[in-house]
Amino acid sequence: MNYQQVLEEIAVEVAPLLSKGRVVDYVPPLARVPLEQFGMALRTVDGRVFTVGASGQRFSVQSIAKLVPLTLAMKLHGDAVWERVGREPSGSAFNSLIQLELEHGIPRNPFINGGALVTLDLTLAAAPRTAIAEFFSQALGAAVQVEREVADGEARTGHRNRALAHFLKSFDNLRNDADAVLDAYFELCATSLSCEELARAFSYLANGGVGADGTVLTTARQAKRINAVMLTCGVYDEAGDYAYRVGLPAKSGVGGGVVAVMPGQYTVAVWSPGLDARGNSLAGTMALELLTTKTAVSVF
Ligand code: GLU
Repeated sequence: MNYQQVLEEIAVEVAPLLSKGRVVDYVPPLARVPLEQFGMALRTVDGRVFTVGASGQRFSVQSIAKLVPLTLAMKLHGDAVWERVGREPSGSAFNSLIQLELEHGIPRNPFINGGALVTLDLTLAAAPRTAIAEFFSQALGAAVQVEREVADGEARTGHRNRALAHFLKSFDNLRNDADAVLDAYFELCATSLSCEELARAFSYLANGGVGADGTVLTTARQAKRINAVMLTCGVYDEAGDYAYRVGLPAKSGVGGGVVAVMPGQYTVAVWSPGLDARGNSLAGTMALELLTTKTAVSVF
């Protein structure tokens, strides 16, 4: 497969979309990101890397980072994770409070904000606070960077996330101090990485739990299960459309990044900050759709 040629064709074909979409604006450093940017990096499980566009430029990974506390919670607690968080698509906004009330404080899945707070809480119950950045850095092979201005902005504007944390606490589904979990959450969202770095950090999901440097980061069973949850819950309220158009497990973030996994073959990361109405990168989704169309390979 000539991945390099495929990526170059994709970059040309998504160009008309780059001026469309909307950059997220709830914190100033994110609102300042210029709209018309695109990068993509694909890393095969045997370590070949193919890139196009601004693949080396860092951006705010936001919800993509929710993969880390889910992975850690599963490593630390095994199937007991699912007593505290569900694994069904939510069908409502990622920061909805109504659903959490109706479902007695059990978040629908680990990728809505309430679910990520619970996986962080599970992680913090069994490991030191530093374990989150340490795992992320180990997967990447370098220290991950938190953008302080973004983390502070998240903390200042994150009223709904604070409400979710205290709501979880009222159902006894948050065991640590709510502010400690929220601080970890805001920092995680403010992690800044490039497509090349994301494709490397999450290569363990394509390679049965084995990281880019050969370290075993999870069991093959856990990697398979994380991919399954990504497929059904990883792209906000757009999982059905993603499965239909792209056909890969994927996790997106409001910074405009998406990580997608073709198990046994590659991890791909794409970034374009213009979002569609549901919060996924407009050009990023099209790029992934073109990737599976041009290669004629998807999980289906
Ligand atoms: N950090 C933001 C929040 O928690 C957005 C995360 C995302 O969905 O990418 O509201």
